[in-house]
Amino acid sequence: MDLSKIRNFGIAAHIDAGKTTVTERFLFYSGKEHRMGEVHDGNATMDWMAEERERGITITSAATNFPWKEWTYNLIDTPGHVDFTAEVERAMRVLDGVVVVFCGVAGVEAQSETVWRQADRYGVPRLAFVNKLDRTGADLAKAVEGIRKRLGASPVLLQVPIGKERDFQGVVDLLERRAWIWEDELGRNPRLAEIPSQVEEEAARAGEELVEVLADLDERVMERYLGGELLEPELLREVLRRETIAGKIVPVFCGAALRNKGIQPLMDAVGLYLPSPLEVPPIEGEVEVKTKKGGEPEIRKETRAPDPKGPLAAFIFKVFSDRHGELFYTRIYSGTLKVGDQVYNSRTGKVERVGRILRMHADESAPVQEAGPGEIVALPGLRFGRTGDTLYSKGHPISLEPIRFPEPVMSMAVEPRSTADRDKLLHALDRLQKEDPTFRVRQDEETGQILVSGMGELHLEIIKNRLVRDFSVEGKMGRPRVSYKETVAGPGRGVEVFDRALGGKELYAKVEVKVEPFPTGGPPQVLIFCSHEQIPKAYHEAVKQGILGTSEGGLSYGYPLVDVRVTVIGGEWREGFSTEVAFQAAAAGAFRKAVEEGGEIILEPIMRFEVQVPPEYVSGIVSDLNTRRAQISDMIMGGDPCFIRGEVPLSEMFGYSTTVRSLSKGRAAFTMEPARFAPVPEDKLQGIVF
Ligand code: GDP
Ligand code: MG
Repeated sequence: MDLSKIRNFGIAAHIDAGKTTVTERFLFYSGKEHRMGEVHDGNATMDWMAEERERGITITSAATNFPWKEWTYNLIDTPGHVDFTAEVERAMRVLDGVVVVFCGVAGVEAQSETVWRQADRYGVPRLAFVNKLDRTGADLAKAVEGIRKRLGASPVLLQVPIGKERDFQGVVDLLERRAWIWEDELGRNPRLAEIPSQVEEEAARAGEELVEVLADLDERVMERYLGGELLEPELLREVLRRETIAGKIVPVFCGAALRNKGIQPLMDAVGLYLPSPLEVPPIEGEVEVKTKKGGEPEIRKETRAPDPKGPLAAFIFKVFSDRHGELFYTRIYSGTLKVGDQVYNSRTGKVERVGRILRMHADESAPVQEAGPGEIVALPGLRFGRTGDTLYSKGHPISLEPIRFPEPVMSMAVEPRSTADRDKLLHALDRLQKEDPTFRVRQDEETGQILVSGMGELHLEIIKNRLVRDFSVEGKMGRPRVSYKETVAGPGRGVEVFDRALGGKELYAKVEVKVEPFPTGGPPQVLIFCSHEQIPKAYHEAVKQGILGTSEGGLSYGYPLVDVRVTVIGGEWREGFSTEVAFQAAAAGAFRKAVEEGGEIILEPIMRFEVQVPPEYVSGIVSDLNTRRAQISDMIMGGDPCFIRGEVPLSEMFGYSTTVRSLSKGRAAFTMEPARFAPVPEDKLQGIVF
C-alpha cells in the first residue's frame, strides 16, 4: 500500500452540528454504502450501536475505511456529547488530521471549542466545514469570525456560497475559479459551471483575500501577486497543504450536508490538505535502558518512523467488548503486523500471538493478512491488551505516550437484581471498565455496595442499557451523585509496625512513608526510596498495593485520593516473619497516618459551562447561576443568542436543564463539561462528610 495516499482522519463537532450526516455522505459518495443513511430515520451506518440509533447520537467511535479518488481514507467517527469526551480524546491521539464541522447558524459552540483544544493538544491539522447553510439564519462569515476569535485560529476561506438559506445551491471554488452546483436529489452529480454573476463580486473579493493570506506565507506567491501574474491553483494548493499540515492555517469549506450539497469538494480536501502518515512527525515513545549492573533503569525517548520494514510499534487506542468477545482497535505507527506474529506488550512485558487482523467498517469487518504503518485495524481476542498499551516486536521495546483521560465526576450505586446475578454483573461492569477509561467500578469494602462512576448522567445511563443489551444482566441504578475526591493539604509522615499472629504464625513488617501534594489530576504516584536491606525488592509490589488499595477508598471519608505523591522512605523486615500480607498491611497503615498528618481535603468536580440565551432572558439566567456558586468568566452580549460562560460546581447543577428551560421559555441551550477538581468550601461540607 502506498502510504502517501493514506489519510487517517476524524470528523469532530459540537453535538447536532451534522457530523454523522456528513460522514454518511462520505460513505455514500465513495461507493462504500449503496444507500444514504439518515440520522433521523435511525439508520446511519456509523451510529451502529442500537443505543445510538435510538438516540440519534454517536457514542463510540467506529472506524471505517473507503477509497476516494487516488486516496484511501481511514475515518474514525467521534461522538459529540461531552459525556463521551474520552472517545474524542483517544481518536485525536491516533489521527493525523481532523475535519471540524460547525453549524452555520450556531457557529462556534462549546464543544467545537473542546474538540479544537483536544486537536491542539495532539497537534492535529484540521479543516473546517461550515454546515447547514440551507437553514434560516445561517451565516458563514459569522462562523469564520468565530473560528478566528474564539478558537484563535487562522481560517482561510476557500469557497463562497451560492444562494442563501432555502436558495442555497452550491459553492464557488476560489482556487479553480469555478462554481459547483448541486441539482440532483442525492447530490451525486454536481455540475461545474461559470461563477454566477450574483456572487461574482463577492468571489473576486474573497479570492483576493485568499491570495493575500498565502502571499504572506510564501515568497513565490508573493512575487507573482506583486507582479500581477495569474496564480495557478497548483501553487496555491501546495502552499495551503504545507501550511495546513504545519497547523498554521485552517482551510474553510461550506455546504449543507442534509441537502447533499458541498460534500465532494470537502472529500477532495481531505486528500489535498490533510497529511499522510508519512507527513506527520515520527511518533515518540519511552524506552527503558539499563545503565549499569543492578542500577535503576533509565528512561530514554525514542522515535519510530512509519517504515514498513522497521520494528513494530502499534498503539491500542480502544477496546470494545460485547457478547462475542473483545476487539482491540490498534493504530500501527511503524513496522508491519502479520497474522501469526508474536508481539510484546509494553505494559505487561508479555508476549502474544496475533491470531487475526481485521479492517473495520462500522460493525462489519474484513480479515487481512497484514497491516503496515498508518493503518488502523482491529485485533480480536488479545489476552493482555488494554487501552493505551503499545505492541512491539522482539528486541525493540517501546512504550508510546498514553492517552490522558479525565477523572469521572458522577457516581451511582448499582444493585444486581438478585444475589445470583451479582458475579455476572461485576464481570460485565469489569469488561465495560476495561473498554472505557472514564468509567470506574468500585466495591465498598464494608457494605459490599457496588459503585460506578462516569462522566455524566447520559454516560451512566448508556452503561446501564449496555449491561442488558450486551451482557444480558440487569443493574438497578441508584440516584446520580457527585463523585468527590480527596487530597492532602500539606506534607505528612507515618510509620506503621505490623506485628501480629495470623493463623498461628507470627508476622512482622514495618513501613515508613511520606506524602505530599502533587497535582497530576490522577491517582497517587508511589515511589519506593529505601534500601533493599530495609524493604527487599520482593515486597515492593505488596507495599504499592497496600498504598494504592487504601487510596482508592480506604481513607477517612472513603473518597479516592488524587494529586498526591507517596514516597516510601524506610522499613524493616525480619527473616522468616515478613510476608507480603504483613508489608501490605503495614504500608496501608503508615500511609493512612501520613495522610492524616498532612490533613485531608475533599475535592468536588467543577464544570465549565456555556449557556446560549436570547438577550431578554440573560439577567434571569445570570441571577439563577449566581445562586449556584457559578463563576461567570465571559459574557458575549449584543447578538442573539448571547453567550454566558464560566465554571460551576457540578453539585449545584442537578436538574439544571429543566431550570434553564423554564427560565427562558425553552429558548436557552446549555452545555457543560468537567474542568477540574477544587476544594469544597467549609459551609458545603455538611452532607458530604460522614
Ligand atoms: P451530529 O450530532 O453532529 O452527528 O449531527 P447529525 O448528523 O446527527 O445532525 C443533527 C441534525 O441536524 C439531524 O437532524 C440532521 O438531519 C440535521 N442536519 C444535518 N446537516 C444538516 C444540514 O445541512 N441542513 C439542515 N437543515 N439540517 C441538517
Ligand atoms: Mg452523530
